[in-house]
Amino acid sequence: MDHFEIKGGAMHAEGVPLTDIADSVGTPVYVYSSATIERHARVFREALSGLDLGHGEPLIAFAVKSNPNAAVLATLAREGLGADVVSGGELLRALAAGVPADKIVFSGVGKTEEEMALALERGIGQFNLESEPEAETLSAVATRLGLSARVAFRINPDVDAGTHAKISTGKADNKFGIAYDGAVAAYARAAALPGLDVAGVAVHIGSQLTDLNPLAAAFARIGVLIAALRAEGHDIRTADLGGGLGVPYDPALPAPPSPADYGAMVQRATQGWDVRLIFEPGRLIVGNAGVLLSRVIRIKPGATHPFVIVDAAMNDLLRPSLYDAWHDIRAVTPTGERFVAHVVGPVCESGDTFATNRDIEAVTDGDLVAFMTAGAYAATMASTYNSRALTPEVMVSGSDWAIVRPRIALEALIAADRMPPWLSSGTNTIGG
Ligand SMILES: *Cc1c(COP(=O)(O)O)cnc(C)c1O
Repeated sequence: MDHFEIKGGAMHAEGVPLTDIADSVGTPVYVYSSATIERHARVFREALSGLDLGHGEPLIAFAVKSNPNAAVLATLAREGLGADVVSGGELLRALAAGVPADKIVFSGVGKTEEEMALALERGIGQFNLESEPEAETLSAVATRLGLSARVAFRINPDVDAGTHAKISTGKADNKFGIAYDGAVAAYARAAALPGLDVAGVAVHIGSQLTDLNPLAAAFARIGVLIAALRAEGHDIRTADLGGGLGVPYDPALPAPPSPADYGAMVQRATQGWDVRLIFEPGRLIVGNAGVLLSRVIRIKPGATHPFVIVDAAMNDLLRPSLYDAWHDIRAVTPTGERFVAHVVGPVCESGDTFATNRDIEAVTDGDLVAFMTAGAYAATMASTYNSRALTPEVMVSGSDWAIVRPRIALEALIAADRMPPWLSSGTNTIGG
């Protein structure tokens, strides 16, 4: 459920008409609903409330990569969530937004020594290691700093998540995690390294999962592994079950499993594990909490159907061209009429297409459209391709709203380039 609804003829985010935001900030612009973000955080926590809490509340570590805006992170920090980070930049963002260091988990295959040192010095809760060489490097960095790193290995369970290939991470030939079959030997070697506290196991098989079976299969393998590791004398205290639960993008498709269904499956799968559970949801928390608001530039006649050319493009919302993703596209002030159209952006790429042969609410030049479910993996992937200004972000709370990232203006972008000395004399004026 989200808080984007038509009231009095115009779509609102909570109590604010999107027309007001477009008029004041311009378009394209991302708009987030803080009530929706909070609601999703609470629904997810409640879905886990049936779990065996022998080891305390589960840690819900929001996957920062899905939406790293400081206002989003601060909203979730106030709800008690931690953070799953995949870079030093995300770590600094999470800390700056008020996420306590001990609620931060550091994932990712390519952590550098600098990032490891930063995370150790800030005292993060856990490193999820993705290879044995990484364990050796972290051991060396921790030893040099006189610190201890609490670690888990991310296990690659070799299950097919049944999602888009670009967001599948749990097959043996994916770059993520250590091989399931070699895990016991890897733990033995890691436990012998100084500076590491080998405390847990971790798994994350992919994103936008619409079937719980691959997750259940992965968790079953993790349960077997925990028992095997304990039999070898390891003190396994945490199990990080990753993120990945899908959200509804297309209202015509069956809804993905609910958080409650997920929670019930987790409860069955983790029976008797006797660990503190960690979860890393991203999309589930923020996906439906954001829209990309865009204005129709013009309608261009097409061979079969018209092209609705909007002022948002693939640089603002990459998911359709990157993942063949489907976003619902709605008129902000619907008239009741519908038509079939292609919805495209102005960027000079055929991939800059949001929808083909789509039956949508009829719109015309100057009308506003909303790309729904644009709160996750959306603004964070925006670029300035085609020298387009970086998309701004707005957060709504009740009848209040605020710009939480201003549009980065073209002047600032152009001024960021530097002329090399051999081009900087003479008549050039670009970049001052
Ligand atoms: C991306 C990612 C997540 C979040 O995935 P969602 O599908 O957004 O829930 C969690 N954990 C890791 C390690 C990730 O890479």
